[in-house]
Amino acid sequence: MTDPEKDLEDRLSELERIAASLEPSAEARGVLRDAVIAYTEKFIEEIYTLPAYNVTGDKGREIYASPISEGPMPVDEVLRLFAHAVDRPGLNPASHGHLGYIPGGGIYASAVADYLADITNRYAGIFYGGPGAVRLENMLIAWMASLTGYPAGAGGNLTSGGSIANLIGIVAARDAKGIGSRDVGRSVIYLTDQAHHSVDKAIRIAGLAECPLRRIPVTPFHRMDASLLELTMKKDRASGLRPFLVIGSAGTTDTGAVDPLANIADLAEAHDCWFHCDGAYGAFFILCSGMNRILSGMERSDSLVMDPHKGLFLPYGTGAVLVRDRRRMHDSFRYNASYLLDAMSDADELSPADLSPELTKHFRGLRLWLPLKIHGLRPFRACLEEKLLLARYFWEKIRECDGFEAGPQPDLSVVTYRYVPKRGNADEFNKVLIEKIQNDGRVFLSSTRLGGNFVLRLAVLAFRTHRWTIDLTLKLLTDYAREIEREF
Ligand SMILES: *Cc1c(COP(=O)(O)O)cnc(C)c1O
Repeated sequence: MTDPEKDLEDRLSELERIAASLEPSAEARGVLRDAVIAYTEKFIEEIYTLPAYNVTGDKGREIYASPISEGPMPVDEVLRLFAHAVDRPGLNPASHGHLGYIPGGGIYASAVADYLADITNRYAGIFYGGPGAVRLENMLIAWMASLTGYPAGAGGNLTSGGSIANLIGIVAARDAKGIGSRDVGRSVIYLTDQAHHSVDKAIRIAGLAECPLRRIPVTPFHRMDASLLELTMKKDRASGLRPFLVIGSAGTTDTGAVDPLANIADLAEAHDCWFHCDGAYGAFFILCSGMNRILSGMERSDSLVMDPHKGLFLPYGTGAVLVRDRRRMHDSFRYNASYLLDAMSDADELSPADLSPELTKHFRGLRLWLPLKIHGLRPFRACLEEKLLLARYFWEKIRECDGFEAGPQPDLSVVTYRYVPKRGNADEFNKVLIEKIQNDGRVFLSSTRLGGNFVLRLAVLAFRTHRWTIDLTLKLLTDYAREIEREF
């Protein structure tokens, strides 16, 4: 005879014993922590000599050779696998030499804050569950609102990045303007071809792909031509269409150009349009003195995207969106389910879950709050101003280098330039040049196409980039250009 009660108890004991390794002892925690800390300390010690870009044949394929299995693997072996398969091939975004795309960050205080957030695992989705965590995030949103000149009634959300932030802004615009399926065909969206592709993606996800889309041409400074925007809006109105949404960039990804935001705000107002401003890359430059001139008009937008994982040097995983009228956000994203009735009755503060597509989410506020508290704002302002000046420095120097020409003086911290060879095709030459730089690996640059030309970019936003990195880049560019010129 088996005793079912005894069987159940035996099985519970057995399961408890097997699951016990998920709650390691102080000693086991120490072993794990020491190994990881040793790894990260070595990484930081060596970061200024590690390549910014590593061309490898395997591209991390080794990870497949170690499938997930029933049994454990020793931490040293796990870290060896991570080092080789993950932390080696491709781009090293933590590098001072990351000068491509829009560089990311990775400040140490955020890493420690993530550790704190992960151990305590506070719930930052709903006020009822995590009132302190929600207040902390709402306080950061209010801080960003005051920074950018948004009113006190603004709402916002800390997102995983700029893409979701753009999506939230565009969905709020759709609902605020009452665009239902029947209105889509006559509700016009205005943007330039320099708008980030996450904006196009958001338009599609929001069900607005069939809205007439007007690509307003840019000026030679790569900024939206406001007079053409006005003309197009008037023409659309005259032909019975309804201007609905204008998307301006506070710093485009390609060239760092800032659209004429104040003019856009005027036109949006005149035509009863929602003004969505994408400042994922550029909005935090408002922290630098004098930048309110270039970014002027940003504060008049209806929704604004700003990415702390770009402009405040945080590790990847934290973007933000602000919406001037927080009720608009709430209308689009509020959440109510019967099992959340407790949560509904206790609402001194708006809950992030009512302002975004997410319910349960990472407590991303802590990785922003802790560094700001620990360091204060001053070093962030200095680091941002340094980036602006480094871009200006590079722009001035590269134009003096034999054979190089540069685009317009940068609005922010992106410079476009290219080498014009004495003979042969310039596009081909610059492709070879960037390939040589990437194979060299000490710095990473990226390229784009502007006005039909293949051009090179330098984007300064990594917090570790200082003047010597820019001098090294100038030397690499001129040395390799000379070398190619000999063979070309
Ligand atoms: C990076 C970027 C985005 C997208 O942000 P993610 O954080 O990568 O999702 C959107 N707009 C601009 C202008 C950007 O530079």
